Amino acid sequence: MQIKEYQKIITEIYSNIKNVEDIGKVANYIPELGSVSADNFGIHITKINNETFGIGNFEEKFSIQSISKILTLALAYKLEGEKLWQRVDVEPSGNPFNSLQQLESDNGIPRNPFINAGAIVVCDVLISHLENPKEEFLAFCRELSNNATLNYSEKVAKSEKNTGFRNVALCNFIKSFGNIKNNVDKVLDFYFYICSLEMSCKELSKIFLFLADNNFKTHKEKRVITKSQVKRINAIMLTCGFYDESGEFAFRVGLSGKSGVGGGIVAIHPNGFCIAVWSPKLNKKGNSYKGMLFLEHFTTKTACSIF
Ligand code: GLU
Repeated sequence: MQIKEYQKIITEIYSNIKNVEDIGKVANYIPELGSVSADNFGIHITKINNETFGIGNFEEKFSIQSISKILTLALAYKLEGEKLWQRVDVEPSGNPFNSLQQLESDNGIPRNPFINAGAIVVCDVLISHLENPKEEFLAFCRELSNNATLNYSEKVAKSEKNTGFRNVALCNFIKSFGNIKNNVDKVLDFYFYICSLEMSCKELSKIFLFLADNNFKTHKEKRVITKSQVKRINAIMLTCGFYDESGEFAFRVGLSGKSGVGGGIVAIHPNGFCIAVWSPKLNKKGNSYKGMLFLEHFTTKTACSIF
């Protein structure tokens, strides 16, 4: 489909749902997220041929939160290879993102890398590989997107640290099973920072092109991960990318994707495009209400789903 056709359809859906009343509320577990205006609504699409279109607040940076779990996974998979799956599974959890429940029966092996437990283990794997995890992870993100302005939010990272009691519990609990190899405080500090990454829809739809384009190379002409790894990360996004609403997202939208409690969603059409949507009000399962609604209309009108 030509970018002009996407533009027409996106503009139409955007105006139709811009003023729809959101059923949900802005995440407020840390004050920084709660103070974001609920009216923000932005969309940006980047095709694999680099044609782009954006509408609304698509250039405004926001807290991408759990969307960063795709980036930590990609780097850990690159560095650790298939051994990674001995530490974290690839099954949907059907439980909330911060649940401790299944870890007991699963012997400290988190169900997947996109729930907090799994992302914390992935952070631990990265710490074992990297000398300066925060700096090197940020450098990886900057190179992927050819964008030196990408950064963490110190404010958000600090707030996460002050309120992240469940994450502290998760990390210690997993450590008790021997599935955290490094110092717990170091792992948590890294985890809180990766949650605080900030990006706009425009930046998000660009950085995740490596999952849409099988032949993607960075501006330094480097391949990021193998084609098989791209396939597998997309598969985990499809089955586990939306907390305990992943089935619903696949059912309504039909793309691989990942959401964050900052109200962002990225979705991938393999060999087609990456699209990012941002609207801060979340439904009961923690996914952007308007983001899901927009993407459902988008794949219906464009007939661009993977099914
Ligand atoms: N910083 C959040 C937490 O660890 C991540 C939430 C999310 O976007 O799923 O609780």
